Amino acid sequence: MSITVVGSVAFDAVKTPFGERKRMLGGAATYFALAASFFDEVHVVGRVGEDFGAEDMAVVATRGADVSNIERVPGGKTFFWAGEYGWDLNSRETLDTQLNVFQDFQPELSSASRGCDVLFLANIQPELQLSVLEQCGETKFVAMDSMNFWIGSARDALIEVIRRVDCVILNDAELRQLTERPSIVGAARAVIDMGPSSVVAKQGEYGAALITEDQFFALPAFPLETVIDPTGAGDTFAGGFVGYIARQLDSSPAEPTLRQAMAYGTALASYSVEEFGTERVERLTAGEIDARVEDLRRITQFDHVPAPLEAS
Ligand code: AMP
Repeated sequence: MSITVVGSVAFDAVKTPFGERKRMLGGAATYFALAASFFDEVHVVGRVGEDFGAEDMAVVATRGADVSNIERVPGGKTFFWAGEYGWDLNSRETLDTQLNVFQDFQPELSSASRGCDVLFLANIQPELQLSVLEQCGETKFVAMDSMNFWIGSARDALIEVIRRVDCVILNDAELRQLTERPSIVGAARAVIDMGPSSVVAKQGEYGAALITEDQFFALPAFPLETVIDPTGAGDTFAGGFVGYIARQLDSSPAEPTLRQAMAYGTALASYSVEEFGTERVERLTAGEIDARVEDLRRITQFDHVPAPLEAS
């Protein structure tokens, strides 16, 4: 199996109550690739500027991801995003978004990238997501992410992408904005009615929920005493979730596989937020991931021992 991802490869400026980074490596595809490459071969499709150094590219390729489809534009500037978090790390303010080299990007995928079994359309212009989707013919599983920025500014193209994927991964607020339904289960149902067979609702510090045609499953976020920087948690979750599915995939993933994938996504995301940017996941080990998945299983398990309820 192999996974292709298209999405932002970026520089971010991030301020949290615990510190600040004026320019660090980021981007949805970067975070995704660092996580998914624990599970499978990953091809990254994107574009960077001349300001993107060999050492930045080496981080994206930390675990062997193929970066040959990341085009470097001479004289160009890399996508830039700036955001700030307050004490409630579940909400952040976007201070700046500069598409730069992504503005007029027409991706041309290599045959290795086109030949993927699993495709992840990470957060980027929906038109770009569509172009990559069309170039990858015979996929077994396609998942996607997006954000408020695109729901507001490119809604029709975004809905066209949603119609053509298997799984939509969005946060609660984005699901509500997209569907104009207040309940998450209702909003997920509205998305499933557009075509996908599953929806993952990301809920920040509260975890994530999986909604399919006839099932519901939820996991809390791993309980951490200290969170330093939530940037990239969603994309790292997606890397663990989609990576696990790619690893287990024969045909379309069954419910137990989706649930296990939720656990891997949750474990990886929990490591990502322990430090700024990609710092923690860069040096993460497979053993640490498995240990956290096992801890998550332990803390979410309970036995149903019926209490002697009062008869009415
Ligand atoms: P997350 O915290 O998982 O939602 O993702 C954070 C990453 O998304 C950052 O590294 C940003 O570079 C990237 N990002 C922010 N805004 C956009 C946007 N409008 N399109 C694509 N990527 C973005």
